[in-house]
Amino acid sequence: MPAYEYTCHSCQAREVRIAGIDDHTVVCSACGQPMVREVDVATVLASYARPKSGAPKRTDS
Ligand SMILES: [Zn+2]
Repeated sequence: MPAYEYTCHSCQAREVRIAGIDDHTVVCSACGQPMVREVDVATVLASYARPKSGAPKRTDS
């Protein structure tokens, strides 16, 4: 499941939440203000860590 990092621009708190269907609005647990979703770093890192299948790497066989 995709995880997104949210930043509260009110108190600068950062939290990682698992993205649901419609959680465009995440409320900061510290101050109660809506948090803004940052770049989905976790998803990008996960895609890099996962070995790609079907990549034509070996040419000499
Ligand atoms: Zn906050």
